Amino acid sequence: MASTSSSFLHIFQTKTSLQTSKDTENFPSQHKQRHYSSPSLKKIQQTTAAKLGFHRQSLALQRSFMNRTKCAVNLESPLMNMDEKEAPLRIGIVGLGNFGQFIAQGLKRQGHQVLATSRSDYTDYCKLNGIHFFRSMDGMCEEKPDIMLICSSILSTEKIVRTIPFHKLKPDTIFVDVLSVKQFPKNLFLEVLPPEFGIVCTHPMFGPESGKDGWAGLPFVFDRVRVIRDSLQTLNCQRFLSIFEHEGCRMVEMSCEEHDRHAAGSQFITHTIGRILSQLNLESTPINTKGYETLLKLTENTVSDSFDLYYGLFMYNVNATEQIDNLDRAFDTVKQKLFRRLHDILRKQIVERVPIPMELNVERLRKKNSVSAPSFLPKAQDMYIKDISSFAVRGEVIANSKALPPGIL
Ligand code: NAP
Repeated sequence: MASTSSSFLHIFQTKTSLQTSKDTENFPSQHKQRHYSSPSLKKIQQTTAAKLGFHRQSLALQRSFMNRTKCAVNLESPLMNMDEKEAPLRIGIVGLGNFGQFIAQGLKRQGHQVLATSRSDYTDYCKLNGIHFFRSMDGMCEEKPDIMLICSSILSTEKIVRTIPFHKLKPDTIFVDVLSVKQFPKNLFLEVLPPEFGIVCTHPMFGPESGKDGWAGLPFVFDRVRVIRDSLQTLNCQRFLSIFEHEGCRMVEMSCEEHDRHAAGSQFITHTIGRILSQLNLESTPINTKGYETLLKLTENTVSDSFDLYYGLFMYNVNATEQIDNLDRAFDTVKQKLFRRLHDILRKQIVERVPIPMELNVERLRKKNSVSAPSFLPKAQDMYIKDISSFAVRGEVIANSKALPPGIL
């Protein structure tokens, strides 16, 4: 198992260090200037242009201007007080399935323009919900959205992102994803996106079920992987994040790597338990406890997500395999605890000479084993050989020998 995990790590290793120098060299030729009416935005434009000028003189200076990793952006920055704060963003959703539709509602609530494209045809749904739907990716890219919001399944994302016609998008486009794993899209974006595109990796830690009554208090994890400092990208990034802030989400800034460590130990475990419970076909009873109600709800919530999503949580998080192993060990430990106690009771009875209804026990164990004893229960014969006979007083065993399975004495 350990080797499996390390090979995953190898596959998903980032190319950031190689890409940074290439990014910097390509940056100016592809970056087009834009014109803004607000004085503050004009200032950003001038600053950006001045800084771009540096590039022609010195790549080293350009490098110091561009922070290719994290760019400190204050959500309460005065930039957010400008008229432009209110201007709607144009957000292009890629993948309008279960979650794409759900998040589109929030974007619309906050007054932004939503465009969308997907493998399936959502024309009718979009007409009803005020979303501009495009049958082709090209069509949507030609509309030059400010934000490309990737809401596709984890498994299909790489294929989809690689087919996006980047040249049709604005050079300051920001790519945002909502995948439930984070290292994978971060590394994919860094690898395939043009260097001038912004990258913000996010995980709204809620969905259509948990967020159906609003998003207030629900965690929204984000990592500003690559945002050009003091640029329109900075502003658009802030405006995008403020959508979730205004919805009342609990904003959690965290690296993609840290997210995946936490998510494997929490979200993946939750989904796994839900999937296991769903195999038991649990049903409501007239005497449900609160705990049991919680399990029923967990099962229902888990299976309402696609199996692709669950498989993605496993396959695309390097920490998931370890959690499966932990879960396996934990179940073994619990079973051992149970049987150790049973063993202790039996030993007490034997050593302290508390009468054991041996005949009864043997018969009951025999019956259980022949009918439907859980697979983890030791066989009756094994219990006598390993556990009881070593403590038994020979005379007592002999006295009950008629009841014992053949071969025990
Ligand atoms: P999903 O099964 O993970 O993804 C469904 C989406 O992926 C649909 O838009 C579907 O397109 C698209 N898709 C699937 N296979 C495809 C393929 N081979 N080619 C092209 N498109 C394909 O279910 P989801 O719940 O909607 O999740 C979407 C994303 O949101 C996932 O990355 C998930 O991790 C993330 N997320 C989900 C939740 C949640 O609670 N559900 C919460 C946070 C984040 P069509 O609909 O057009 O077929």
